[in-house]
Amino acid sequence: MDCIFCKIINGEIPSSKVYEDDLVYAFKDINPEAPIHVLIVPKKHIESAHQIDESDFQSVGHIHLIAQQIAKESGIDQSGYRLLTNIGKDGGQSVSHLHYHLLGGRQLKWPPG
Ligand code: 5GP
Ligand code: ZN
Repeated sequence: MDCIFCKIINGEIPSSKVYEDDLVYAFKDINPEAPIHVLIVPKKHIESAHQIDESDFQSVGHIHLIAQQIAKESGIDQSGYRLLTNIGKDGGQSVSHLHYHLLGGRQLKWPPG
């Protein structure tokens, strides 16, 4: 499958790894929008959050726990952070492999525009 995040997970494309286990892979975003900008992805190729089904509950729930851990290790668990996933064209999704952005280290703006 021609998916850049699948290639990052299997090592074909290099990445700055932050965390890995059987279910998830986390790595630094190549174009960070904040001092901390990590992408957390399930190892299973799922197109977006709109394609999650019940068999994915474990990995998707696990991503939230890993986000807590990465936020703590990055020193932003007290100051706060954002965990988000973009879906489809209008949602601003540019890579069609489910990924959660973990952003922090500065005051983030809202609404996103
Ligand atoms: P999206 O726009 O789909 O929500 O987020 C995709 C993210 O993937 C973007 O923030 C972009 O910078 C990041 N990205 C795209 N290609 C690569 C890559 O090859 N390596 C890394 N580390 N990040 C990437
Ligand atoms: Zn993929």
